[in-house]
Amino acid sequence: MFKINENYLKLPGSYLFSTIGKKVAAFTKANPDKKIIRLGIGDVTQPLAPAIIEALHSAVDEMGQAETFHGYAPDLGYEFLREAIAKNDYKDRGCQIAADEIFVSDGAKCDSANIQEIFSGDSKIAVCDPVYPVYVDSNVMAGRTGAYDPKSETWSDVIYMPCTADNDFVPEFPKETPDLIYLCYPNNPTGSTLTKDQLQQWVDYANKNGSVIIYDAAYEAYISQENVPHTIYECTGARTCAIELRSFSKNAGFTGTRLGFTVIPKELKCKDVALHALWARRHGTKYNGAPYIVQKAGEAVYSEQGKAQLKEQVAYYMKNASTILEGLKSAGYQVSGGVNAPYIWMQTPKGINSWEFFDYLLEKANVVGTPGAGFGPSGEGCFRLTAFGTYENTLAAMERIRQL
Ligand SMILES: *Cc1c(COP(=O)(O)O)cnc(C)c1O
Repeated sequence: MFKINENYLKLPGSYLFSTIGKKVAAFTKANPDKKIIRLGIGDVTQPLAPAIIEALHSAVDEMGQAETFHGYAPDLGYEFLREAIAKNDYKDRGCQIAADEIFVSDGAKCDSANIQEIFSGDSKIAVCDPVYPVYVDSNVMAGRTGAYDPKSETWSDVIYMPCTADNDFVPEFPKETPDLIYLCYPNNPTGSTLTKDQLQQWVDYANKNGSVIIYDAAYEAYISQENVPHTIYECTGARTCAIELRSFSKNAGFTGTRLGFTVIPKELKCKDVALHALWARRHGTKYNGAPYIVQKAGEAVYSEQGKAQLKEQVAYYMKNASTILEGLKSAGYQVSGGVNAPYIWMQTPKGINSWEFFDYLLEKANVVGTPGAGFGPSGEGCFRLTAFGTYENTLAAMERIRQL
């Protein structure tokens, strides 16, 4: 009789967004005349920019002609895209990352979930708390996280590094040394960042302790402040301790089109085995690359036209972010984020937990957000609003919240 991977049974159901969906559906049914504004969206809403659409059309046409047809893509991605990434995202920022250290993929979600496969089953992981749930969940599936305690909503073998208003959202070095350290900056859900000096300390820590940092920079395009690094390779020594995950989803609207990449420098080694070689081997077997058409669309992200159009999209979302930030402040809430990320993080009023606040906003303002508890135990007492709505709706939501 076959057996299943029982680690999957340990995962609590994806309770957060299904519970939100049910609550909103019940409210809508009871109040069909109320116009709900959704500021809980974790997905972009602007259409693909014209430069990208043009590249997609022309790549589709190429696929229909024998002379320009493309079959299997190279395992690690097309040279034209990897060169564009190496130049624009790294060389132009003064970082030494070569095109052959870039692995093109179908998105950062897959990569952030899959990267754990190249590490030993007994690796100890550390995560910021709260954070994007994929890092922990993928390690649960791999059997690395020990037992789940439903009361504290934590796993016994995961090192949680609280990132709250109390420590200005900067994780402290854990007492126990982790093997893998997941860092996500700008952060989802808190919208917080590390300065270059703060990130440098983590790089030094990892090099000193023989840990690997898995750095998720999916929101890099939203950075507006000078002292916030766009990539971990701006730090000295990162080539020997850091893997970087990037995505075209949040900067260029590829959430449905699917494109991302992972960077593994060749110096990153365990004894004399390069992680680059392991990840290349994995791509060769379990290919999760992107189609030619999509890689051509990714190349257009780096064209002059594409860059200008995408800058406008990011600016649109960031105008929403500052509208939310200012709106909540003037309504008397304690808020953070929203400056280098499309996420605004607020403290719920004293004595009201994040789910109670969700109900309150839904019922009184007809505004939907996301309870902080859904992103980890330290998210309790906090609430996330996102900048991915329309400007008109964002303004209207703030007006409603101010009037409460
Ligand atoms: C949205 C998001 C991603 C996912 O990116 P895809 O490329 O769409 O898979 C990765 N990391 C974080 C933190 C995200 O919020």
